[in-house]
Amino acid sequence: MNSWASLAAKQLFQAWAHSGVTHIPNPREEGVRAAEKWLEQWSVDSGVEVAKSLGVFPGESAASLNKTAPATSPALPPAAPSPASISPAPAPSTPAPSIPAAPMRSSSPLPSLVDGQTHWSERPLELAARNERFRLLQAEVAACRKCTEIVCRRQKTVFGVGPSNARIVMFGEAPGADEDRVGEPFVGAAGQLLDKILVASGLSREEVYIMNALRCRPPNNRTPTEAEIENCRPFFETQLETIQPEYIVCWGAVAVRAVLRSTESVGRLRGKFHTYRGAKVMVTYHPAYLLRNPEAKRLTWDDMKMLMRELGIPIPPPKRA
Ligand code: SF4
Repeated sequence: MNSWASLAAKQLFQAWAHSGVTHIPNPREEGVRAAEKWLEQWSVDSGVEVAKSLGVFPGESAASLNKTAPATSPALPPAAPSPASISPAPAPSTPAPSIPAAPMRSSSPLPSLVDGQTHWSERPLELAARNERFRLLQAEVAACRKCTEIVCRRQKTVFGVGPSNARIVMFGEAPGADEDRVGEPFVGAAGQLLDKILVASGLSREEVYIMNALRCRPPNNRTPTEAEIENCRPFFETQLETIQPEYIVCWGAVAVRAVLRSTESVGRLRGKFHTYRGAKVMVTYHPAYLLRNPEAKRLTWDDMKMLMRELGIPIPPPKRA
């Protein structure tokens, strides 16, 4: 398969995955339309031939595709590599990539404080499959331009950092100036405070996964809008579903809005565990807030002790004044 054909086939899969299609025998109409649009956009005739040979060419209606698709079609690969970063696709005769389809499920109902779904939607992946999914998803994030006010000013996208099988996810708001420059979450002053909190809690930055509601910096560090959070939701939901952590710590109100879909204040939600699918969710103040309001550090320390008790980490005795 030549590189153009590989590209077209990958873009085809990408478009379907984007539209929530997870199996070839049952493509939804919107997936077919999206795939057609992609092929049109890229004008890659050889890609059409490859797609036909794979039995996934969407030039017919979804109904006719259903008729002709093989009974045991492979799952689609998960994410959307940018054209520049695509690696060669498998030949038509080889099985489709073994990575389970990434659930870009922006339209599915989410667990919330109200409806509280208590388990993950898919089986946990092997570490290599998680990392491969993240590699592809990261390329898609880098190419994302959904938030028009943000993309013209961003320097780097900030995907997330840490082991893809971490037990705990630290979930923040959005990149700031330092994160935008470096491409990593929580590296500025707030990040340094987070590191200290982690160390004091018997944890380390290396063993947790750190991510934000947004992957790009809002202009002048303004609070992300609801629309921007929703734009980025498919990315962070896929990350969480892939990691399937036992615990998620929501640092600040934006994280709470994104994960728990709640507009309650941090003050009202902290002090107990909530649920996001299979994870227990703890709410506390954002380190940037703590830098501005040092008196609240005591409350965050109380929250961290709650997490430490859950994890079986010994709590150090209080320091003498
Ligand atoms: S914040 Fe998220 S949705 Fe918005 S442009 Fe960046 S990656 Fe895309």
